[in-house]
Amino acid sequence: MLDALSARLQRTLARLRSGGRITEAQLDEALREVRLALLEADVHFQVVRDFVAHVRERALGREVLRSLTPGQQVVGIVHEELAALLGGDAEELRSAERGPSVYLLVGSKGSGKTTLAARLGLYLAGRGERPLLVAADLERVAAVEQLQALGAPAGLSVYAEPGEVPAAEIGARALAEARRSGATAVVLDTRGAVELDDDLADELIDLADATDPTEVLIAVDAMSGQSAVDLAREFHDVLEGTGIVVTKVDSDSRGGAVLSVRAVTGLPVKFITTGERIEALEQFHPERFASRVLGMGDVVTLVERAKDAVGEGEAKAVAKRVASGEFDLQDFLDQMQSLKQMGSLAGLLEMMPGMSGMQEQLDERELTRTEAIIRSMTPEERRRPQILNGSRRRRVAAGSGTTPADVNRLLNQFTKAKKLMQAMTGGGRGGGSALRELLRMQQ
Ligand code: GDP
Ligand code: MG
Repeated sequence: MLDALSARLQRTLARLRSGGRITEAQLDEALREVRLALLEADVHFQVVRDFVAHVRERALGREVLRSLTPGQQVVGIVHEELAALLGGDAEELRSAERGPSVYLLVGSKGSGKTTLAARLGLYLAGRGERPLLVAADLERVAAVEQLQALGAPAGLSVYAEPGEVPAAEIGARALAEARRSGATAVVLDTRGAVELDDDLADELIDLADATDPTEVLIAVDAMSGQSAVDLAREFHDVLEGTGIVVTKVDSDSRGGAVLSVRAVTGLPVKFITTGERIEALEQFHPERFASRVLGMGDVVTLVERAKDAVGEGEAKAVAKRVASGEFDLQDFLDQMQSLKQMGSLAGLLEMMPGMSGMQEQLDERELTRTEAIIRSMTPEERRRPQILNGSRRRRVAAGSGTTPADVNRLLNQFTKAKKLMQAMTGGGRGGGSALRELLRMQQ
């Protein structure tokens, strides 16, 4: 996820952070790097210009450069400005005051609408709603089947009609069916096109008129960069969007779309999707996302995911252990197991502070190796890795079919991550709100 951009920004910021005093010239040099990194990531040029100008103004304005920790302060400013660029506070999905909430999903062909319909259905069902998915893509028979194939295993009801019926008529009848059957949310999957031509615009406007949507969510394919952002703006002009869902963020190493879309359209990003699996839908939290991009991890999301996978009680216990610095290799292994059930080990590491640098070396085989290494340790060694001296490390390597260098690497990374986690949960830089949320969870 945003690997290329993330790695480049982290290199630049690490350089800033490592030095003591910073001159204005050094600041400008670093900001030039940041600017290039963002432009190369295909972030809209005006967005980049404003972003860098804001950071520079703040860094020069508040005696930051003369402070004792100028590098860290500048990094903190970059983090805050990035979160602001992404929209500031997270925005919840709205629901209708009366009657079923209606979510109209629009976007170009292949942007992930049909998949998103099923995901949103599952998300709503998880919040106690009774969703009805509606196949209002009348062009492709396959789209109806696709929606049914995605919805059925998840236990979601799908409304479809045979033959070529205008989308607005399907929408109106689906809404009536929702009222009749007691559904509380209606998710409308629509036809997409390569571009928003008049036919599609008319079809979607008619559908919106017939269903009075609570939200018009525009799917933006992260992999299409700025062109997807431009298209989102066109959809917004025609349909008055209320929110953005950036899809395929897992496959996007650059980040141009996800970083620009809020500034360019003015619409909040409400969700991102991060994988092929139906569960891979995340509510979008600008501040946490900024942390992930800058390699500060995202302990809060990590804990939330763990909560889904292992149940709330255990998740709270883990949160407490992270906060108190007791998080050990056994916890690490347990978390890996839980997250494996959810299909996203790379995602786990990305959310662990200090681990994002591992992304490149990371593949499933690596993780299997990491698991094997931890499994070859005794319970005592997992709890207190510091007792792993040379001969123990050789034993663990032999037992797991790896080399002592592999064992060393894992232990170094774990130590670094743990230190960072403690710093974060201890109210360190960039971790203030993560700490507050963790503490709130523990109450
Ligand atoms: P639609 O034409 O807008 O309805 O798009 P679909 O829902 O059919 O999705 C198009 C393709 O993108 C499918 O192969 C999906 O599996 C894939 N896709 C959707 N969301 C994601 C995602 O978050 N990550 C990845 N890697 N693939 C996705
Ligand atoms: Mg579709």
